[in-house]
Amino acid sequence: LSEDGRALLLSRIKDVPDYPKPGVMFKDITPLLADPKAFAALTETLVELAGQYGATKIVGLEARGFILAAPVAVQAGIGFVPVRKAGKLPGATLAQSYELEYGTAEIEVHAEDLAAGDRVMVIDDVLATGGTAEASLSLIRRAGAEVAGVAVLMELSFLPGRAKLAASLAGAPLDAL
Ligand code: AMP
Repeated sequence: LSEDGRALLLSRIKDVPDYPKPGVMFKDITPLLADPKAFAALTETLVELAGQYGATKIVGLEARGFILAAPVAVQAGIGFVPVRKAGKLPGATLAQSYELEYGTAEIEVHAEDLAAGDRVMVIDDVLATGGTAEASLSLIRRAGAEVAGVAVLMELSFLPGRAKLAASLAGAPLDAL
């Protein structure tokens, strides 16, 4: 991503204070999605990364990860696999729960969508605590597939997400654009 490209993406992300609750600075990507030049620049960069990773499948994390990941899968010519919040997928699933600030959450993937031999790239908009991404990596491994890399638009570097993910990445790259 060029300096100009990075500046364009940054200019299309809106900081919304105290959303969805007090103390949270929400990173709103809807201006980026509404700008076809910015969305295309992001997609191209992610397609390049998918090539560098040698990815054979793209996993998007619900919900904004779906929006970013789907065009990458189409342009890269590889399959898209949704990792969804629990209870949304109709088929046989693998489920993984993880801890939130208060309580726990659970994500699922269709077991038949990932298999041994797959090299999986995970895409999401924001890496915060790393809990969601970490749970997705364990789903990928439990399905018998390999983690090729994780790419996010933004990393909240004041949170320990990258450190939390280090062990489950096991040497695979984590790129924050
Ligand atoms: P975490 O599991 O804490 O890394 O949280 C990551 C998930 O929550 C991602 O799917 C993000 O879409 C969402 N998220 C967390 N923090 C923010 C934020 N400040 N702005 C926008 N989305 C966020």
